[in-house]
Amino acid sequence: MDMTNEPELRRSLIQHCLAMNASGLNYGTAGNISVRCGDRMLITPSATPYDTLEPDDIAVIPVDRGYDAWEGPLEPSVEWRFHLDIMRSRPDVGAVVHAHAPFATILAIARKNIPACHYMIAAFGGSDIRCSGYARYGTKELSEEAIKALDGRQGCLLANHGMIAVGPDLQKALALAVELENLASQYYHSLLIGGPVLLTDEQIAETRAGFATYRKQKRRKEA
Ligand code: 13P
Ligand code: ZN
Repeated sequence: MDMTNEPELRRSLIQHCLAMNASGLNYGTAGNISVRCGDRMLITPSATPYDTLEPDDIAVIPVDRGYDAWEGPLEPSVEWRFHLDIMRSRPDVGAVVHAHAPFATILAIARKNIPACHYMIAAFGGSDIRCSGYARYGTKELSEEAIKALDGRQGCLLANHGMIAVGPDLQKALALAVELENLASQYYHSLLIGGPVLLTDEQIAETRAGFATYRKQKRRKEA
C-alpha cells in the first residue's frame, strides 16, 4: 500500500480495526491502531466504537513535532504517546496494533515473557517476546516500558494490560498481532501439561535465516 495515500490509509485503518475485533483479538473499544502516512501518524480516536468510525474521524499527529499537536474532530487514543514514540524511534515501523488479546493478556497479568516455545517466535525478531514493566495506561512511563520491551522485536506484552505488535504496514502488523495471540495461547496451554521444551538460540537463528527466503520460495506455477 502507498504509505502516503491518506484517504486510502484512513479507510484501511478502520478496516483493520474491524478485522482486529472480528478475529477475537480485541473486544469493544479497547485497543487502538496507528499507521504512518508520510511524516504524520494516523491513529484511532479514543473510546469510539470501531463500527461507527468514518474516515474523517481518524486523528492525525505529526511524527516529529511537539507532543500535543494533534488534529481531528475527536481526541486521539489515550495511547497516542507509545504509538508516536514507537514511530519516532523505529523508522522500520509503519503501523502499530495494540489489543487486549485474551491469552496475551493472561500472560501479561502473570508478567511472563513468551519464550522460544515455537519456531514462530522467530518472526518477532529474537528468541522471546518480552513482557514490559507495569505503568498506568496512557502514560509516558508506559511508553518508555513499551519501547524497552520492543527493543529488537516486532511485538511485546504490556504488564497487566495487553499486547503491542508492529510492522511495516497495517496488514503485517495485524498479522503479527494475530500470531502473537496464537503463540500466547500455545504457551499458556503448554504450561498446563508440564511446560514447553524450548528451542535453542541457534534453532531460532536458523529459523530466522529460513524466513529470509521463505516467501521467495513460493512461486506460482507458470500457466
Ligand atoms: P482508547 O480508546 O483511548 O484507544 O484506549 C483503549 C486502550 O486500550 C487503552 O489502553
Ligand atoms: Zn490498552
